[in-house]
Amino acid sequence: MPVMEKEKTETKGAEETPILYLVIPCYNEEEVLPETARQLTERLSALMEQGLVSAKSRMLFVDDGSRDKTWEIISSLSGENPYVCGLKLAHNRGHQNALLAGLMEAKNHADCVISLDADLQDDIGVLPQFVEKFREGCDVVYGVRSSRKTDSFFKRATAQGFYRFMGLLGVDVVYNHADYRLMSRRALDALSEYKEVNLFLRGIVPLIGYRSDYVTYERHERFAGESKYPLKKMLSFALDGITSFSVKPLKIISNLGILVSVLSIAGLLYALISYFCGSTVEGWTAIVCSIWLLGGIQLLCIGVVGGYVGKIYSEVKARPRFRVEEKKGDFPEPEEERDAKNAG
Ligand code: UDP
Ligand code: MG
Repeated sequence: MPVMEKEKTETKGAEETPILYLVIPCYNEEEVLPETARQLTERLSALMEQGLVSAKSRMLFVDDGSRDKTWEIISSLSGENPYVCGLKLAHNRGHQNALLAGLMEAKNHADCVISLDADLQDDIGVLPQFVEKFREGCDVVYGVRSSRKTDSFFKRATAQGFYRFMGLLGVDVVYNHADYRLMSRRALDALSEYKEVNLFLRGIVPLIGYRSDYVTYERHERFAGESKYPLKKMLSFALDGITSFSVKPLKIISNLGILVSVLSIAGLLYALISYFCGSTVEGWTAIVCSIWLLGGIQLLCIGVVGGYVGKIYSEVKARPRFRVEEKKGDFPEPEEERDAKNAG
């Protein structure tokens, strides 16, 4: 029994100073890595000194199949810096997948995880605020950009247009939030239940639904190297976001079909009247009527098929249908078993 007591206090202690993992996906980032590791080590040690996070906290660099010296740098850093860990993916799987790989690894060791980019464009000065919100009981803390002064006009306009458009399509995304966020272990466990292959983490995390808050920060410029998100990748990312979270485009086709069908009836009347008034070339009425009516009916049919495709699509994704946030009252065994396991 005394052993149990001791274990209990130990886990409680761990709760008070949480183990924090910083997860950093890296793709061809040899130019920024040494400096990034230096700055993050500074911040992490400061957090430890302030007693905000446990000394077991780490930085986890995920090499997303880079073709330059990224992995060599991560390996050598991890040799000389006790806070640096590395994870190497066999192929370049893209930012979202690299991030997920890092998060899923970190959740086995950490109480909370913050994801950030290797180029430190997202202000690391707000790291303590993330941890504080976590200690206040938030499971997810979103980093939200207060302005986009440093982005080019084009990037700013397209990105903001994208967030608005997602909102119009009924997708719940946090405005001006990229992937700079803190997640608790519980939130990461929930995330691991989303099995979809087309990953759009910004859309999934709000679906998890635990208590969340946000921290605002200024976005800086990349201090070295160039963006690993060229226009082509950005567009395909945006498309992924839309098609993974909304079946509204399918509904729009249906509605368009109805609209064209109705219009075609008006057109039909007009064509018939013109025909009977004798002011038409022979054959025109038949062609015009069939083009419009058939066009409308076809769109409508595609829309109906789309309706079913949309249903198949959401079934295939098999997302969890609900998540219990809190329980009150006396629920014995399973919870206790788990606690005992965690303590052991
Ligand atoms: N990244 C990655 N795999 C990729 C592309 C990018 O892991 O295929 C990482 C990259 O190393 C960086 C982060 O994703 O840490 C964000 O990329 P970047 O800063 O180039 O994007 P931007 O800030 O220009 O949108
Ligand atoms: Mg960047």
